[in-house]
Amino acid sequence: MTRILCCRDFSQPVERSRLVVLQRRSTEESWGLKISTSEDGLFIQELQDSPSLAKWHQEHPAPRCQIQPALAILEVNGKEDSEEIFDQFRTATLVEMTLSSVMTLSQQQNFAIAAKRDRKEKELAAVGELLHAVDGATAGQCSICLDEMQQDSKVVQLSCGHVFHKACVKKWLLTKRMTCPLCKQTPVAEKARGCSHFS
Ligand SMILES: [Zn+2]
Ligand SMILES: [Zn+2]
Repeated sequence: MTRILCCRDFSQPVERSRLVVLQRRSTEESWGLKISTSEDGLFIQELQDSPSLAKWHQEHPAPRCQIQPALAILEVNGKEDSEEIFDQFRTATLVEMTLSSVMTLSQQQNFAIAAKRDRKEKELAAVGELLHAVDGATAGQCSICLDEMQQDSKVVQLSCGHVFHKACVKKWLLTKRMTCPLCKQTPVAEKARGCSHFS
């Protein structure tokens, strides 16, 4: 039995809870929902593009129908238990879920922690793209920690040509500033380098 409900049918105060229905073509297709857990139940951490989300938002443009991060998941296909909800997301091709814009304190805390961790991971990935591995034996002294770089040291070069211990420069770029500690140039990723067509 397939019952398609719209958020309009929902009897609770509309500004707090919303009933949304997502449908996918197969269990292979992603829902586009990154879900996090807390001791008070699940909530939406982040959205990614997915056909089912796009369809829902296209058909339900009203703000109170929107699916967005920081919404608590109250139930999915009649299940309220976190494990059972995850099970529905894994195995179902249609999910009817009740979302609430009111998150508990533990959900809010977990949301903030996960958001910070995600930001950090993205920053790390961005910095990682700026570092090019070079042979430690020929690299001389690291001007951040002033130690000699050894054969077995992890040594990287920035786009300006300066070389440092990988750990030293990574820490510098993440915590101090996004410029070379020696020449103050802003390092650029390999992709962006060498293309003069759009200068
Ligand atoms: Zn160093
Ligand atoms: Zn430099």
